Amino acid sequence: MKILIAEDDTTSRLLFSATLRKLGHTVTAVEDGRKAWEAWRQNDYSLLISDWMMPHVDGLQLCRMVRAEPTLQYTYIILLTAMDSKGSYLEGMDAGADDFITKPLDEEHLAARLRVAERILGLHKRLHIEATHDRLTGVWNRAAIVDNLQRSLQRAAQENFPLGVIIADLDHFKRINDTLGHAAGDTVLQEAACRMQGALRPDDNMGRYGGEEFLITTSGSGGSQTMALAESIRRAVSLTPVISEAGEIPITVSLGVAMSDGKRKDAGRLIAAADEALYRAKKAGRNRVEYFGGRL
Ligand code: GH3
Ligand code: MG
Ligand code: MG
Ligand code: MG
Repeated sequence: MKILIAEDDTTSRLLFSATLRKLGHTVTAVEDGRKAWEAWRQNDYSLLISDWMMPHVDGLQLCRMVRAEPTLQYTYIILLTAMDSKGSYLEGMDAGADDFITKPLDEEHLAARLRVAERILGLHKRLHIEATHDRLTGVWNRAAIVDNLQRSLQRAAQENFPLGVIIADLDHFKRINDTLGHAAGDTVLQEAACRMQGALRPDDNMGRYGGEEFLITTSGSGGSQTMALAESIRRAVSLTPVISEAGEIPITVSLGVAMSDGKRKDAGRLIAAADEALYRAKKAGRNRVEYFGGRL
């Protein structure tokens, strides 16, 4: 695990760090709450082990600050304490601590607490993946890709980089279901998603937007690069028929592309623009890419 330790007592800090490293963890150790807060904001830590009494920002304040911050990854917090009165435990729990360890350090005790932390973090990670991914294709689900687009729009407006949206919709997909069955349709969806993803560059994101519709977001690429990407997705999807239990199924996809104007931060409007371009691609005969050239 990636662990952050905040402890003002040097001996205790060194002892905890050494023990955790010996147990195979990656450790960052700092000597007060303020430094811990700065480190935590700049990195993803699975676990924060914090002393209670510290200068500047104490353990309780640090807990509250971490919990007040919206993050994708949960940080499990263990408070170190020399006190063991009931009142302070309750206060710690209310501040957002998950567990407590009383000093001085007992190695066996610490290792057991870490196993609990790993169990909880593992569960959280699994739930998070299930809540953000599409079961059938493994790509982001609709809520996650739209969230991602919304966040990218905010950043693009602040940092002034171009942002593009592609909507890809499989052509005559209903026919596949109707003639070959739903299972063949599912195989096509999985294979199509896999081919599309293979055409993406490292910073592109893709999610399942609807039944047989996928949303791709690009950042840092201009209109012509995004069009070129859409074209390579189109080619990748239609290159060879999909092999399914029902036989070989030729497939094609239509795509609509829209670019953010850098001012509007509305994901819905940008998606609607790409959808409009997609509609034109369908009307023009399918298996093609169209660009939204209108005003957002
Ligand atoms: P077009 O070229 O105009 O896009 O036609 P289409 O047939 O692809 O579009 P339409 O929207 O008429 O059909 C989409 C179909 O996708 C209808 C729906 O039953 C099917 N579908 C949606 N989700 C799933 C799924 O998870 N699995 C399967 N097998 N089919 C699905
Ligand atoms: Mg202290
Ligand atoms: Mg559709
Ligand atoms: Mg379709």
